[in-house]
Amino acid sequence: MAAVVSARRGSAAARGLGRAGGAAGASQARGTADIPRRSRRRKTVAIAYEPGQGDGGEQGGPEPQRLRWEPRDWRQQLERIREMRRNRDAPVDEMGVEKCYDSSAPPQVMRYQVLLSLMLSSQTKDQVTSAAMLRLRQHGLTIDRILQMDDATLGQMIYPVGFWRNKVKYIKQTTAILKQKYGGDIPRTVEELVQLPGVGPKMAHLAMTIAWDSVSGIAVDTHVHRITNRLKWVKKETRHPEETRVALEDWLPRDLWREINWLLVGFGQQICLPVNPRCNECLNRDLCPAAERH
Ligand code: SF4
Repeated sequence: MAAVVSARRGSAAARGLGRAGGAAGASQARGTADIPRRSRRRKTVAIAYEPGQGDGGEQGGPEPQRLRWEPRDWRQQLERIREMRRNRDAPVDEMGVEKCYDSSAPPQVMRYQVLLSLMLSSQTKDQVTSAAMLRLRQHGLTIDRILQMDDATLGQMIYPVGFWRNKVKYIKQTTAILKQKYGGDIPRTVEELVQLPGVGPKMAHLAMTIAWDSVSGIAVDTHVHRITNRLKWVKKETRHPEETRVALEDWLPRDLWREINWLLVGFGQQICLPVNPRCNECLNRDLCPAAERH
């Protein structure tokens, strides 16, 4: 499963892979003491501001303010997940997308490799994606090399990634579009990225973060979707990752958008598993609404 790994993010920006250097994801490298303290309230429902007497509310004074909904206990739950992820030893940390591209390649080539590894990673374990990327890189993973490669050879190289036959088709189509329309680079916007065959919203947001060092939204994959529903970090249960993304972006402070993906993906790989989560090992057991059901 693809994710943004905080320990490595500086490498992309520092080598010129991204457009801007580093403020966007600085939060992920922060320790416990540096948690954003946006608010100390623990409200679970939206509360409309009601102007009191003499505060000018009825005379065209300051606009009423509406407190944003946020989940109960989320800061404490987040801290505990950070603690559980302290060793950074989940598959995503060792074989995630940020480990799959050639960091010595020219920036344009690196960005193409980031996009390709994201395309390979859907419905595929990190280990399988990483091995496929290694084979491709040994062959020479550039736009021109992929366009020259016949479909059968490409299929052999990426097998057994999930839906590898479809991915051969999408990779060829997307690569041709990158060559013709984007001068051999990848697009700089989510809107353009999701127009590419085989590229979904999660991949687009991760591509923006990793390849362009620009946080455009929360990358929600199956782990993030599942865990945030279990912890009730969404106001109402959501049915699919895009719905979850919108619900999370509504309240989660923006400086956490980058961190949340890698944090929850690794947590989902190691403890909050899709089936039979290891609640007995989870520091959030006493705060998790889903803990008793497993
Ligand atoms: S208590 Fe269980 S379900 Fe809840 S976050 Fe922890 S592992 Fe996941």
